[in-house]
Amino acid sequence: MKSLKKEIFKKAIIVILLMIMFFGLSISLFFYQYQIKNVFNLLKIENSDISNYVTAYFKKFYIEVEYLSRLKEVRFAPFLNEKARKKALETFKVFQEIDKDINYVYAGYKNKMLLINNYIPPAGFDPTIRPWYQAAIKSFPNISQGLPYREIKTKEWLVSVSKALVDNNGKIIGVVSIDTSMDKIIKKLNEKKFLNIFNFILSKNGLIIISHNKFNLNKNFFRENKIDKKIFNKPNGFFEYYTQGEKLAYFNKLQNLGWIIVSEIDKKNIFSPIIKKIFLLFLIVSFLSVTLGFFMTMFITKEIINSLYNLHNNIQSIINNEQFKKTKSPFVEINEIYENIENLTQNALYKKNKELEKLNKKLEEMAIKDKLTNLYNRYKFNEELVNEINKYRRYKTPFCLIMFDVDYFKKINDNFGHDVGDKVLKEIARITKQTVRSTDVPARWGGEEFMILCPNTKLEKGIKIAERLRKAIENHDFGIDKKVTISVGVAEYNNEKMEMKDLLKAVDEKLYQAKKSGRNKTIY
Ligand code: GH3
Ligand code: MG
Ligand code: MG
Repeated sequence: MKSLKKEIFKKAIIVILLMIMFFGLSISLFFYQYQIKNVFNLLKIENSDISNYVTAYFKKFYIEVEYLSRLKEVRFAPFLNEKARKKALETFKVFQEIDKDINYVYAGYKNKMLLINNYIPPAGFDPTIRPWYQAAIKSFPNISQGLPYREIKTKEWLVSVSKALVDNNGKIIGVVSIDTSMDKIIKKLNEKKFLNIFNFILSKNGLIIISHNKFNLNKNFFRENKIDKKIFNKPNGFFEYYTQGEKLAYFNKLQNLGWIIVSEIDKKNIFSPIIKKIFLLFLIVSFLSVTLGFFMTMFITKEIINSLYNLHNNIQSIINNEQFKKTKSPFVEINEIYENIENLTQNALYKKNKELEKLNKKLEEMAIKDKLTNLYNRYKFNEELVNEINKYRRYKTPFCLIMFDVDYFKKINDNFGHDVGDKVLKEIARITKQTVRSTDVPARWGGEEFMILCPNTKLEKGIKIAERLRKAIENHDFGIDKKVTISVGVAEYNNEKMEMKDLLKAVDEKLYQAKKSGRNKTIY
């Protein structure tokens, strides 16, 4: 057998656990995805900020180089006089002064001439074999848009934007170039706070050209981290790789420069706070579920169990024959049970009461009536007699007592059998009831002896009644071959000092005299 309380408690725990699992998991999943999306967006925004900045940084160099490549004194410097070359150098100087992002403005020619301010090239210097010169020729007729290279003397990392110069026949005769230094770009990016631990820039070939970490510079990012180059065929996208922990990264390829801007984040830096928050969420959900479950259980226990306990107690008290207390429950079903039980018990009680009533009536009759003749018995007659004597003592109304006995009744029994004797007694009782007045009280005194109490009756009237009865019996046909007669004694009660036993004795004496003096007589 299970206890309802325990069962509800068990079920509540299951519900709470399911709630924690369901809500905990779904909220966590939702939260996780939301947070990851945030991280992705953050990387993207971070990345696009640098991308835009770097693109803008180089844009002006393209315009400047384009402009210089069209100047006559720049294009044809080897073929013009010193004055013209000075003019070209003067223009270079102006550009350098106006644009602080510029390191050098210069032009190199096929005849190995180099046009540059404040720079003395090393002995045997050949501009046509320098990377910036080669790059411009390779990109011709377009601008070479940002080639990182190392300056031959200072070993400084520079980025050049260069364009080939052509003669009137379209033949390449030289290259004009503007250099900016990596340091300058890094400084600018640092000023804008773009160059944090999350961002770095790769050259087309995967060389780390800009990074907050100088130690990483010039390393090949693809090779060092075993990253498939094909990932970077797309213009931008997410990728993951491993170096000192797992990283999640976003890259964007700059169209003109061909540089790859990478923004990355340590996976553990994303996940540990997310997991911490999810754990907190789980705690909150658990707390809410437990609280909710607790109150739910309390409510159910209080309302339902209490109702059931009341019901149980009430049924117990019905069984113990105590009062049925109709208690109101907040639940329709339990109230219906109450009503049904009430009806049931009331029905049962009603039936029992009816049976008892019948039985009581029977018992009462049995107590006061003689079974054979249905007349009052001796016990009841005594009561009536006492009442009548009391009445006399109060109102002084005399009454008569008649006593009669069947003559030679033994013979009737002997001759015709006991059953016939019984019938005769019944018949005598019937005749007696018929003959006396309705106020008179006949009774069977015992055996074949009868009494009649005649209230408010004087002796003369009593004698008349006795005689009428004696004659009625004498003349009645009992259906047997024998006359049935009775001997009768009559006594009047007319003295309050007279006790009941005296009265009985008196009437018995009269009866006795009637027997003695020949039977079928009334003596008074
Ligand atoms: P007496 O005239 O002197 O009264 O003669 P008796 O035969 O009537 O006298 P007794 O009192 O000796 O006999 C009464 C008989 O009545 C005895 C008994 O067997 C019989 N008797 C008493 N009660 C009943 C009864 O209920 N039914 C029947 N059938 N007989 C009864
Ligand atoms: Mg007798
Ligand atoms: Mg008799």
